[in-house]
Amino acid sequence: MQELNIIPGTLPPQCEALRQEVRDFVAEHLRDFPLARRVRNWTGGDAEFSRKLGSKGWIGMTWPKEYGGHERTSLERYVVLEELLQAGAPVGMHWVADRQSGPLLMRYSPKVLAPRLVPQIARGELFFCIGMSEPDSGSDLASIRTRATRMADGWSITGRKVWTSGAHNKHYMIALVRTGEGSQRHGGVSQILIDMKTPGITVRPIINQLGEHDFNEVTFDDVRVPAENLIGEEGDGWKQVGAELAYERAGPERYLSSTQLLKEMLDAANPDDPRHAVALGKVVAQYATLRQMSLGVATMLAQGMTPGLAASVVKDQGALVEQAMPDIAHDLFAGWAEPDSPLDLAMRYTAMAVPSFSLRGGTREILRGIIAKGLGLR
Ligand SMILES: Cc1cc2nc3c(=O)[nH]c(=O)nc-3n(C[C@H](O)[C@H](O)[C@H](O)COP(=O)(O)OP(=O)(O)OC[C@H]3O[C@@H](n4cnc5c(N)ncnc54)[C@H](O)[C@@H]3O)c2cc1C
Repeated sequence: MQELNIIPGTLPPQCEALRQEVRDFVAEHLRDFPLARRVRNWTGGDAEFSRKLGSKGWIGMTWPKEYGGHERTSLERYVVLEELLQAGAPVGMHWVADRQSGPLLMRYSPKVLAPRLVPQIARGELFFCIGMSEPDSGSDLASIRTRATRMADGWSITGRKVWTSGAHNKHYMIALVRTGEGSQRHGGVSQILIDMKTPGITVRPIINQLGEHDFNEVTFDDVRVPAENLIGEEGDGWKQVGAELAYERAGPERYLSSTQLLKEMLDAANPDDPRHAVALGKVVAQYATLRQMSLGVATMLAQGMTPGLAASVVKDQGALVEQAMPDIAHDLFAGWAEPDSPLDLAMRYTAMAVPSFSLRGGTREILRGIIAKGLGLR
């Protein structure tokens, strides 16, 4: 049983100087960046922008210099993410690699894969996607069926992944595959690196309810992968994925996905209307609370702690607050916002996007199961 203990975090002065540097950079490089793209936030990407961030040293910020990192603190990284997210910057190309693939490679393949790939990630040149979910395995990830079979010269992979965000425009996938025999569930899976250009891979788009192409179905038909692409030990995939999902769930993106709608609502609010003051005051208070909790998680990470339970609570509460925003906007501004005005655009986009917030990265029910278990409630 764990205690839900979040250390209050404060940012040291160097973080505020860095914040201003990021703001200036964003103001210069995203001056004409349209709202229609800002609303996509960290799911929208631009390879050139990622390269620019790489050259500023804002990817792989906390990683060791030997891997092309910059050895800055996780609080400095937090501030950079916060500023990029609030601006709706197109960070989606490198997001997964920076958040979880780079750390995973350094931890589990420090001598073979990490020296080759991680410096390219830090330069904003190499992008990754996540191959976990399958057609019949989402929440029950241990039931995956995509198989990697050991061959004389490496691995042969056959199977199917689904909902793979960015499989069509990322260089590599880190896939969870079955390597063990028979009925082993957790013990029989491993993680493997797959170059998305390898023959035998078919990527088919799945159009989401916004009418956009973000995720895909990916089929592997005897896809040959070198032996060295196995990440960590064979059969350790379950343990490794647990660590990876903790990175995936911990960041400020879990409550800063709808900031453009919040900004538009604040801009459009009528100061003389108490309904506006009450509703938006509540939202801002909720954001301030989430921000304190999220900063607390970052502070705990900076102190070498593993705040998995607290991170799950932030993700759960963040999704709740963000999913309520379109209804609040509707109550306050429907029929009032000019068609195709920035407020109207942000309302329409966010209303269609928020249902996914309690699915991606693990559903609400699964996350609450983890929280309950962590608290010793089941
Ligand atoms: C925008 C978006 C991007 C995504 N990107 C990726 C990606 O890049 N890579 C990737 O691998 N996956 C990705 N996913 C997939 C995502 O991880 C899965 O959708 C999610 O894990 C749920 O799996 P599922 O869709 O199979 O639903 P299911 O597991 O079938 O769940 C259906 C419903 O049943 C509930 N449920 C299931 N089991 C339980 C239980 N034991 N107790 C209580 N309730 C339960 C769930 O909470 C859910 O409400 C993405 C999803 C979205 C929406």
